[in-house]
Amino acid sequence: MAGEPQADCLFCKIAEGQIPATILRETETTVAFRDINPQAPTHVLVIPKAHYPNAAELAAAEPQIAADVLRESRAVADQDHLESYRVVFNTGGGAGQTVFHAHAHVLGGRGMQWPPG
Ligand code: 5GP
Ligand code: ZN
Repeated sequence: MAGEPQADCLFCKIAEGQIPATILRETETTVAFRDINPQAPTHVLVIPKAHYPNAAELAAAEPQIAADVLRESRAVADQDHLESYRVVFNTGGGAGQTVFHAHAHVLGGRGMQWPPG
């Protein structure tokens, strides 16, 4: 069923506590944890507990939970005292997505270039 945990999904396992992560925040619908390979002083992933392969699929099926992910992204930035930060949803392998469970990257704590690489 849509949104159900997938046995072979890394982020479902983190959401269920089967794989350890440095968890910053948790809500009924989301978990925020530090990226294992940080690309900035703050690099946090905000995931829905429900499994959807990317942010667009999440928003189509569960718009409230997609909004929760955005709200929690700001909460992470507030928690790390970031005035400016970047929220990224890599969508598809060509855009750099490697884990096919929807997630927001929250990046901050250094200057950011535009356009991104
Ligand atoms: P994507 O490339 O799909 O947009 O982002 C996946 C992110 O997950 C990468 O930034 C990668 O460093 C991170 N990641 C991969 N495996 C783990 C893990 O086991 N724990 C944590 N905390 N992050 C992970
Ligand atoms: Zn998953």
